[in-house]
Amino acid sequence: MNIRDRLEAIQKAPHPLEYTADQRAKMTRAVIAYAEAYRESIDSRPVYMPERSDSDAALAIHEEPVSIEEALDTLAEHVDGTGQNTVSSRFFAYIPSGAIYPGALGDYLAANSNRYAGVAYAGPGATRLERQVIRWLADEFGYPETARGDLTSGGSIAALSAIVAAREAHDIRARDVEQTAIYQTTLTHHAMSKAIKVAGLEDCPMRFVPLDENYRMNTAALERMIAADLQAGLKPWLTIASAGTTDLGTVDPLRPLADMAEEFSMWLHVDAAYGGGFVLCEEGKRRLAGIERSASLIMNPHKGLFLPTGIGMVLVRDGESLFRAYHARGTYMQDLESAGPELALSAEPRAGPELALSACDFSPELTRPFRGLRAWLPLKIAGVAPFRDALEEKLLLAEYFYDRIRQIDGFVTGPPPDLSVVAFRYVPERGDADEFNRRLAEAIRDDGRIFLSTTTLDDVYTLRMAILGYHTHLKDIDIALEVIEEKSRELAAQ
Ligand SMILES: *Cc1c(COP(=O)(O)O)cnc(C)c1O
Repeated sequence: MNIRDRLEAIQKAPHPLEYTADQRAKMTRAVIAYAEAYRESIDSRPVYMPERSDSDAALAIHEEPVSIEEALDTLAEHVDGTGQNTVSSRFFAYIPSGAIYPGALGDYLAANSNRYAGVAYAGPGATRLERQVIRWLADEFGYPETARGDLTSGGSIAALSAIVAAREAHDIRARDVEQTAIYQTTLTHHAMSKAIKVAGLEDCPMRFVPLDENYRMNTAALERMIAADLQAGLKPWLTIASAGTTDLGTVDPLRPLADMAEEFSMWLHVDAAYGGGFVLCEEGKRRLAGIERSASLIMNPHKGLFLPTGIGMVLVRDGESLFRAYHARGTYMQDLESAGPELALSAEPRAGPELALSACDFSPELTRPFRGLRAWLPLKIAGVAPFRDALEEKLLLAEYFYDRIRQIDGFVTGPPPDLSVVAFRYVPERGDADEFNRRLAEAIRDDGRIFLSTTTLDDVYTLRMAILGYHTHLKDIDIALEVIEEKSRELAAQ
């Protein structure tokens, strides 16, 4: 058979990958029924389910197809039926990530039409939609018109982008690395050190600024360290502040840090991956005051905006540095250059950051998921007010928990929460306190009504409640208090 005959035969044969409208409707019904049953059961499911030993065999890919129902059964048992139920209103571990429902629909729509969000010429609407999400958040943070940003897969990649922009802005070359000092605290998220390492800056002198009595960066100590480094002939170039540490939710003193960054011509980066969302409510905005003066910041809509996992954001005050960090071209993109001044992907310098629209000019990625839709759809159909209200409520819930846990016999806490994380522990009358708290954490996890995680603070084993579920309300905090009190009594009585 010649090639043409073979192709004719193939064209006439059935095409299992080209689903008909009927097949699609049937599949969609099965998926929606599954998703609905899951949503309805979120709060009655255990917050944690152990892993299964037979999952690899069940999840393996085979030549023979199975029905969608069978595939969903496998998903239910081996994926959705194992591990942490992060969408539960009683999930208080790490930093909870909400997954409000329209976020999932945004992802579905984005994947279904597959709009190309990397290049403006290919997806002008998708690009502009993402620009609006970024611009709206930039305004909320008080960043100027010159600011540019990128929607990333999460905080870690956003951190990398911010660090690379800072590196470009200060023109730090390989030969400068050992002379340019970086300042952070021991509570700075490890994503920042990872970003520094990936950006080739691991050999920068790394200073860990002591914390003050409220676990915030001690600005007097920072000033002394900067002076000592200047004295030694080094160049202080980057301060990494946290606006909501993961351990404690503490916010570093952003205004004095911004003053100092100005005085010493340094780059102030604020890691607001967790805490940034609180800028949307009055009280949160007050607690984050000064963030508008940073040179860059990151925030995770998959934390503070209750969106499904997979969306972070970097904002750079002077968008030019982000553009310089990532603007690049290939010959195969030349067709895109004739698209008119705005949509074009033109060789520099004609399209600087003011004209450039394409996400790829501000991102290490070219082809990327159309992540903006999972943020835009929920915000458009609910409006912003419910997000502001929910965030305000989380701050109140943290204050409430803080007041209550201190009233339960045996429990101590640190300073009042800056945002929505509360660290606490039990001080037993006898025996090893760390051991007691470790057993308490285990007993709480085994009980299954709530899920929380622990950390080590001043070398002391510490429990923490992180409150950020969009549907976490007073009743959930009361259950948490009840479980914690009950388990501590049981252990103390042993
Ligand atoms: C979650 C978090 C990060 C990392 O973000 P990912 O989305 O997990 O990559 C960085 N900094 C802080 C303060 C965080 O809470």
